[in-house]
Amino acid sequence: MRKVMIAGNWKMNKTFSEGVELALALNEELKDGTGDVEVVVCPPAVDLKGVAEVIEQNDAPFGLGAQNVYWEEKGAFTGETAPDMLTAIGAGYCIIGHSERRGYFGETDEDINKKAKALMAHGIVPISCCGEPLEIREAGTHVEFVVNQIKADTADLVIDDPAKYVIAYEPIWAIGTGKTATADDAQEVCGAIRETLVEIFGAETAAEIRVLYGGSANEKNIADLVAKPDVDGALVGGASLKAPQFAEMVKNAQ
Ligand code: PEP
Repeated sequence: MRKVMIAGNWKMNKTFSEGVELALALNEELKDGTGDVEVVVCPPAVDLKGVAEVIEQNDAPFGLGAQNVYWEEKGAFTGETAPDMLTAIGAGYCIIGHSERRGYFGETDEDINKKAKALMAHGIVPISCCGEPLEIREAGTHVEFVVNQIKADTADLVIDDPAKYVIAYEPIWAIGTGKTATADDAQEVCGAIRETLVEIFGAETAAEIRVLYGGSANEKNIADLVAKPDVDGALVGGASLKAPQFAEMVKNAQ
């Protein structure tokens, strides 16, 4: 049985003290618990330690994720963060392959595949993003495009615990634009991702891998999205930056 996940991607927003404030506010909003929903926040790297302390000191009902990682263990890789470093500050999740990293920083499917393997070797849950740009959607080849990303991103990946590998389908044209894919659009692609996972990993493993939707998801549309059979939650940008709105989204995802 897949547990719904709502993961907040704060992107490059919130200074250290603002991040701590947001985490404290979210803890307060979620004080009655999150029901059956697994909640994760992914602050900027320099905020991780502060948010980790909020979670630890308050026994907060959400997990901590990073927004990026490098696949090497250590060494001369200026500006990068190793999986071990994330584990050491209590981050149990990490976004990889976000379209902003693919688009602005040239992250490739090969990089994403290496990052997933490195994270999983350290017990960190990858939240691995995929999704098509507008021109591919308009050409009608979006399913094929995303299926090819999934195949490349999971090449030779060994999944021992399918609950610890998460995919986020994020059509690029819907990210930060206010244009949400309809729940049926999301299901079309998330369903195709599931079929691809069945081909790659077998039915039993594929049935336990969560496939999230991302792209202008919010407290108003989340219930329709998670009602679809292959949509297991959301990766959330804008709507994760205000504690009451994000908490409402968690509530409506239950
Ligand atoms: C995201 O960045 O992963 C995202 C889905 O952003 P937004 O919710 O703002 O569209």
